[in-house]
Amino acid sequence: MKIAAVRTHLLEHRLAVPFQSASMRFDRRAHVLVEIVCDDGTTGWGECLGPARPNAAVVAVYTPWLVGADPLETEKIWARLYNALRDQGQRGLALTALSGIDIALWDIKGKHFGVPVSTLLGGRFRETVKAYATGSFKRDGVDRVEDNAAEVARYRAEGFHASKIKIGFGVKEDLAVVRAVREAVGPDMRLMVDANHGYDVLEALEFGRKAAELDIDWFEEPVVPEQLGAYREVRAGQPIPVAGGETWHSRWGMREPVETRAIDILQPDLAGVGGFTEARRVADMAALHGIRIVPHVWGTAVHIAAALQFMAAMVPNPVRVNPIEPILEFDRTDNPFRQAVIKTPIEHDQGVVKIPNGPGLGIEIDRDALAGFRMRDD
Ligand SMILES: [Mg+2]
Repeated sequence: MKIAAVRTHLLEHRLAVPFQSASMRFDRRAHVLVEIVCDDGTTGWGECLGPARPNAAVVAVYTPWLVGADPLETEKIWARLYNALRDQGQRGLALTALSGIDIALWDIKGKHFGVPVSTLLGGRFRETVKAYATGSFKRDGVDRVEDNAAEVARYRAEGFHASKIKIGFGVKEDLAVVRAVREAVGPDMRLMVDANHGYDVLEALEFGRKAAELDIDWFEEPVVPEQLGAYREVRAGQPIPVAGGETWHSRWGMREPVETRAIDILQPDLAGVGGFTEARRVADMAALHGIRIVPHVWGTAVHIAAALQFMAAMVPNPVRVNPIEPILEFDRTDNPFRQAVIKTPIEHDQGVVKIPNGPGLGIEIDRDALAGFRMRDD
């Protein structure tokens, strides 16, 4: 079997109500899928984290090394592509584009052998995962405190055990939001916060010390990801566990945060860290250092399906009778093509998601949806 063609599919939806994190404003949803077609007709799908067009451009840069290669040789291909851009790459788009390609290759490998990717990774430790609701962005034209409290109460009513709140807009206002959410949902629901690197160290320390009484499971991206010393200061100086990792790519990007314990919880993204090939190395490294993994997910059902296959095969750490289970980041914000791109949507039931068990990623792409949400040129 040989790779015959590599294609990218740019998708977008303009939002009726824009929203923002501390670091980014969203007036549309845009994601890119990678399709790899083999000479025997087998097709694999992947997705790249981050900006759609630039990712598609880098996938095109890699394509000459892919066409004619054996798609089952995932390790060889990874090494060749990484090395092709190593001198100017090492992270960012060079890795997010490589991730989308790697995910598609593992989808092909699973389809070729007739098993889910999780089986190829060593076996399924679980058939379902609990999902946590990601939302609570700052939306235009509404009171953020009331809006976020009502939103998270809705997730609780839907059965979610946990939800993540966007902060990083100012310590005082952020504390008011988290307090209102905690009051609205009661003491049992698990809450996390995500500053999207919107604070400096002093703000992060102040927020963490004051918010700790609200029973927060983790404090995500408190400060900019380049400043690991600042991460360590935040971790040492306030009581909430610190999480991060969605912007650190490859084993080399993860090494220093893990080895110097800049974080309590590592959040590699399958579509950013380097696909399945690299994520398993990162998971091993984190386990070696006793650091918990909760994968980051932000994209379409292709991305979610990849995360689920990886999570199915995550080795409990420690192995014990009642193990610590990974939880799935489940984006609840407006994105009509998120699930429309596949024929059987990956939905939750009372906050629990079933892991697909078909070959590869276990999903089937809906090409009509790809056409319907195709990105416009303007
Ligand atoms: Mg985040």
